[in-house]
Amino acid sequence: MSNYKYLILRRISQITLLVLYFGANAYGWKMLAGNLSSSTILGTIPLSDPFALLQMLAAGASVGATALVGGLVIVFFYGLIGGRAFCSWVCPVNMVTDAANWLRRKLYIDKIERKIWVSRNLRYYLIILALIVSFVSGLAAFEVISPITILNRGVIFGFGAGAGLLVAIFFFDLFVLKNGWCGHICPLGGVHSIIGKYNLFRVKHNSDNCTLCMKCKDICPEVQVLDMIGKRSDFVAKQECTNCGRCVDVCNDDALGFNIRNYMKNNQEVTDENVN
Ligand code: SF4
Ligand code: SF4
Repeated sequence: MSNYKYLILRRISQITLLVLYFGANAYGWKMLAGNLSSSTILGTIPLSDPFALLQMLAAGASVGATALVGGLVIVFFYGLIGGRAFCSWVCPVNMVTDAANWLRRKLYIDKIERKIWVSRNLRYYLIILALIVSFVSGLAAFEVISPITILNRGVIFGFGAGAGLLVAIFFFDLFVLKNGWCGHICPLGGVHSIIGKYNLFRVKHNSDNCTLCMKCKDICPEVQVLDMIGKRSDFVAKQECTNCGRCVDVCNDDALGFNIRNYMKNNQEVTDENVN
């Protein structure tokens, strides 16, 4: 069970949020009302998707002060504490892509040599593209086609034809590109990577305990962030880490765990290791 601790906690978090959104619409619950683009906690604390806000601003829409405050709340929380945790603890599409990734491993599709290569930086270019299209079209471009919005609103109001996009993402990740959507394409994941670049709550690697079994690298959806494995003790520094905790779950050597990043101490440790 300990191998699934963070996975279970994340599923509880993601499903609870969907239930709260559904309950707010169906029964008037106040705990979390709205949707992942714009909501309020207990009818008072606003939350807004910063990427949706940027698109609306690019599209020329007027954005109210409450929505801007909601965006700042999100940026402050993830920027300071959560990092890219939105992707693994909040976003419901993560359950779809995790399911595809799980099935890939079960069917040994990972072992088949793939010819397709897509840069993991594509998501950052798509942020810019979404803002340009929003500016030109006068519509929040990514919001129109976002699978996050489709799944979130589908749970609240019922699914329509947009559900086909979720099925397409599942099969794309299963057969075409490992971690294709969340690890390469989704611009909202890119925005949250940027927001969480310097957050304090991070996975830390202890090389003294590490037996180089590489279970962490097999399971990590953003394997490039574990570049310190086999080299040094260090925090995961790259911004694409989703703080999903799967690497911590599967490590049987107590070599990975969550910790508070201390920039000054961390720099000192790295400097000392370089000297040695
Ligand atoms: S990358 Fe996009 S779809 Fe995937 S979990 Fe993050 S926000 Fe959701
Ligand atoms: S390094 Fe660990 S916490 Fe970060 S994305 Fe990879 S598996 Fe998840």
